[in-house]
Amino acid sequence: MMGSATIAYIGLGANLGDKEEQLRQAVKRLHGETGIRVERCSNIYETDPVGFTDQPPFLNMVARIRTILKPEPLLDVCAKIERSLGRVRDVRWGPRTIDLDVLLYGDEVAELPRLTIPHPRMFERLFVLIPLLEVLDEDASAAVSSREALETLDGKEGVRLWRKINWPEEFEHSAN
Ligand code: ATP
Ligand code: CA
Ligand code: CA
Repeated sequence: MMGSATIAYIGLGANLGDKEEQLRQAVKRLHGETGIRVERCSNIYETDPVGFTDQPPFLNMVARIRTILKPEPLLDVCAKIERSLGRVRDVRWGPRTIDLDVLLYGDEVAELPRLTIPHPRMFERLFVLIPLLEVLDEDASAAVSSREALETLDGKEGVRLWRKINWPEEFEHSAN
């Protein structure tokens, strides 16, 4: 049914409350959304905060999805899931229960009022690149630049493997 759909990558992060459970719920809700199928998930990484450093560590991961939604409706779904998990928009780059960013959408390069693709800061963020490269297709247009960016960045010790997961398979065998 979604054979001709677009492959996109969603970056997820949480640093307030039950962080792992919020990631889990966010991925489940993405997967449950009409027109979106979560095909693969990276492992979960624990990340020291960057920028605004006086806040708890983050858990970060990346989901590879297949979707028939266009980029802006996909962003709207991400915002809806953030709201449904109690995200309150407060300080930019400040603490949050959950954050879903559209990292890549097919090979598209777009600068829309509400949405820039690829995500404008992804190539300078180890907490994005490390999980992304676990699930990124080798022939994706951003594959080479992502690998090169990862090699040139310092501070990899700030991103530590937290837990291996087998989402979305696990959801198909559990009630909640
Ligand atoms: P950052 O964007 O640096 O990761 P953030 O995720 O904390 O910071 P938000 O407050 O979640 O920032 O988002 C601010 C705005 O960024 C959103 O309202 C959205 O319209 C815009 N935006 C632009 N490009 C993207 C993208 N690729 N994915 C998600 N949001 C985007
Ligand atoms: Ca973000
Ligand atoms: Ca965001």
